[in-house]
Amino acid sequence: MQNNKLCEIAEILKKYNNFIISSHVHLDGDALGSEIGLYLMLRQLGKDVRVINQDKTPDIYQFLPCIEEIACTEKLDEEYFFDIKPKTILIVLDSSNLDRIGKIHIDIKQIDFIVNIDHHPSNTFYGKYNYINPHASSVGEILYGLGKQMGCILNKQMAISLYTAIVTDTGSFRYANTKASTFQIALDLVKLGVNPSRLTDYIYNNNKLSSLKILGEALRKIKIDSSSRISWTIVTRDMLIETKSKDEEIEGIVDKILSLKKVKVSAFFRETKDGYIKVSFRSKGEFNVDQFARMFGGGGHPNAAGCSVKGTIKETTKLIISKLQTELDN
Ligand code: 5GP
Ligand code: MN
Repeated sequence: MQNNKLCEIAEILKKYNNFIISSHVHLDGDALGSEIGLYLMLRQLGKDVRVINQDKTPDIYQFLPCIEEIACTEKLDEEYFFDIKPKTILIVLDSSNLDRIGKIHIDIKQIDFIVNIDHHPSNTFYGKYNYINPHASSVGEILYGLGKQMGCILNKQMAISLYTAIVTDTGSFRYANTKASTFQIALDLVKLGVNPSRLTDYIYNNNKLSSLKILGEALRKIKIDSSSRISWTIVTRDMLIETKSKDEEIEGIVDKILSLKKVKVSAFFRETKDGYIKVSFRSKGEFNVDQFARMFGGGGHPNAAGCSVKGTIKETTKLIISKLQTELDN
């Protein structure tokens, strides 16, 4: 397990010419903003770069620069492999282990090596080179420093991408991962031309009617435990069909239900297309949901984590809520 210095990562990226960038399934603002930010920086340095993800880009992120250049493998058949030039480096962003990138249809044997850049404390150091900084609010914040170390001249397009990463992973500068350095970087990005109000309008004021309907249905089903410390709710495939909403439209429900007075932990259970129950956890203060999610094969950050469980939504909810109650009592 080796954690490299950021300047070492910068030197390696400067030395090589061919890159593939990828990030985790269920793409979020940090994954996409970081991918595009790094894509633009490496392109500015004259490199050959491709961004390949398993999942399709959610509609709300279509405003990001160069978003149409991202390849998605969701609909490719199992046998398909992307062409890989000799001496290609795979850069994996925001992913605590390599399985988190899903199936991106590249033959890993043709890759020279992996560079792993992340801020999850549970990162497994799967790269030949790793830069893991759990104190960084987001991978976007790390890449701001990396860009400078590589000698990039940060421009407005890069700033929009990195700001998106930072604003989404800090819950608009509200979560505990927001530090003075986060604001300092955001200030610089605004000076480079980011319009914070316009940018966050794209992300937060761009809901479809179906998104609010599924939120309404989920809120109608909210439950709290007898001590009012845990709130939870569910979204089933049937609820998605009834409200005509897509999977990507249910981000944020877990944060809404955490807003209840007294509640310390919230859990959100959803049925996925492939028969799993995806669970998201959020907490206020001390309760570490990263540690809790690891008990179920997942992970994340101290106040935001998740896992995927095979089972029915009813069984999974019962199991996880009773385990949460036990952990909160300890
Ligand atoms: P979300 O609940 O928004 O999907 O994820 C919150 C945080 O937990 C993110 O940092 C995400 O990377 C992490 N996370 C979510 N699901 C999983 C999972 O199944 N495994 C791991 N290792 N991390 C997860
Ligand atoms: Mn992140």
